[in-house]
Amino acid sequence: MEPHIAIFPSPGMGHLIPLTELAHRLLLHRRLFITFIIPTVAGSPVKPQNDILNAMPENISSIFLPPVNLNDIPEDAALETRISLTLTRSLPALRQTLTDLTSGSLRKKPSALVVDIFGPPSFELAKEFNIPAYMFCTFSAMTLVCTFQTPIIDQMYACEYKDLPEPVRLPGCLPAESVQDKKNETYLRMVELSKMYSLPKGVLVNSFLELEPGSFKAMEEGDWCKPKIYPVGPLIHAGSQDLNSEGFECLKWLDKHPVRSVLFVSFGSGGTLSQKQLHELAFGLEQSGQRFLWVVKSPQGKSNASYFNAQSHLDPFGFLPDGFLERVEDRGLVVSYWAPQVEILRHGSTGGFFTHCGWNSILESVVCGVPMIAWPLFAEQKMNSVLLTDGLGVARRVKVDENGVVGRDEVSKCVSSLIKGEEGRKMRMKMSELKGLGAMALSQDGSSTRSLLSVAQEWCD
Ligand code: UDP
Repeated sequence: MEPHIAIFPSPGMGHLIPLTELAHRLLLHRRLFITFIIPTVAGSPVKPQNDILNAMPENISSIFLPPVNLNDIPEDAALETRISLTLTRSLPALRQTLTDLTSGSLRKKPSALVVDIFGPPSFELAKEFNIPAYMFCTFSAMTLVCTFQTPIIDQMYACEYKDLPEPVRLPGCLPAESVQDKKNETYLRMVELSKMYSLPKGVLVNSFLELEPGSFKAMEEGDWCKPKIYPVGPLIHAGSQDLNSEGFECLKWLDKHPVRSVLFVSFGSGGTLSQKQLHELAFGLEQSGQRFLWVVKSPQGKSNASYFNAQSHLDPFGFLPDGFLERVEDRGLVVSYWAPQVEILRHGSTGGFFTHCGWNSILESVVCGVPMIAWPLFAEQKMNSVLLTDGLGVARRVKVDENGVVGRDEVSKCVSSLIKGEEGRKMRMKMSELKGLGAMALSQDGSSTRSLLSVAQEWCD
C-alpha cells in the first residue's frame, strides 16, 4: 500500500492553499495517499475551503473535525490567539482521527504528520502515535529565522526592542522593524510557539534558495536551527478551472485593456481597512488616472477582521465615496470580497499589485513576474515588505502618515510610479529575473524539486 501522509492545517485560506499545493506537487512525484484533517470554527463559512478540497484528486481526502466554539474569546482577541485556540481545542478530535487512521479502519497509519506554523502543539500527539512530525512553513525563510531566534533574543534583552539603539541583527536577515510591545498577547504566544519549532524532524519552507539565500544559509550553519530545512517553493495556487461568473467577469474585463496597464488592488483573504482609509484609497486610485481592479471589503476597525470570514455579509460598495464607481467606470473594476487572484496576476494586462504583503500573495506575484506596492497590514507583513523593498527591489513601500493613514496623494504617487514610471520599469525587470529563478527552482532538477524529493523519500522509506 502507498505511504500515507496526514496534514493538519490551521484555519485560514492562506494556510490551506499552499498546503494543498504541496499535496499536489508531492503527487506529481510520488504515489501517496494524503489526508487533510481540518479544524473548523463554529459559525465560520467553509465554502472557500470546500471549493479547494473538492477539486483535489482522489488520492487526497479530507476530514473536517467537529467545529470548536470560540464564543468565550473576547471579540478583540488577537487573530493569532483565535487560530491557536482553534487548533488546541481541536486536539482531542485530532487524537480520535489519528486513532481511527492508525487502527486501520480508515487507512494505513500515516508515515508523517505535516502541520503549519501554528500546528506545533500537535507534536506531542504525533509522538504518542509514533508518527514523525514535520512543519510546513507558510511564511518566508527570513521570518522563520526570526521565529527560531525569538526565544533567544527574548532572553537576551529585558527591555523593549524598540528602545534598543539599533534594530536587533538576526543571522541572514535584513534589519526590520521588530515587535513594538513585548507584553503583547501575540508576542507572548509566538515566544511559546517558537520554542516548539526545534521539535519537528524537518521544516518544509514555501520559499526557494535563490530568493532568500542568506536566510537559508544562516539556518544551515546555525546550531540554533535543529530541524532539517527543505526549501520547496514557490508553491502557489494553480488557479481554478471553474471560475464563478464574477471571476470570469474580471478576466474578461482585463482582456479589454493594454498590456501591463492595470493595477490589481487586494489585501488577501483577511485584510480590511478602516472607513477613512477606504476613502483615501478610493480617491488615490481615482487621482492616479491609472487603470485598476480592486477587491473591496467592508471597512472594519481591525486590519485582519475578515480572516475568519472571507465573505462578510455587508455590501462593501455602499462604503465607497459617493459617485466613485461612476467616475472611474471606464478604467476601474471593483469587485466585492474575492477575486481569482492568481489568474488576475497571470493576465498580461496586469502591470502591478497593491498588496498587504501576505506571503502567498508575494509568491504569486513572483511567479507571475508582477512588481508590487507594499502596504503591510498585520502579522509578519512588515518584515515581508522589507524583503521586497530593501532586499529584492521589486516593490515600493507606501508611507503611512502620522495618523496611521495612507493618504490619497501617496496612493496616487505610488500607483503612477509603479504603472508608468521609471521606478516601476526597473522593478518589473528585477521581478522578471526572480520569476525565472522561481521557475528554475521548480524545474525537474531545480533546488526546490530536489529538496521536496528528499523529504518525500524519508516518508516513503
Ligand atoms: N486570494 C484570492 N482572492 C482574493 C483574496 C485572496 O484568491 O480575493 C488568495 C490569494 O491568491 C492567496 C491567499 O488567498 O493565495 C491569501 O494569502 P496571503 O498569504 O497572501 O494572505 P492572508 O490572506 O493569509 O493574509
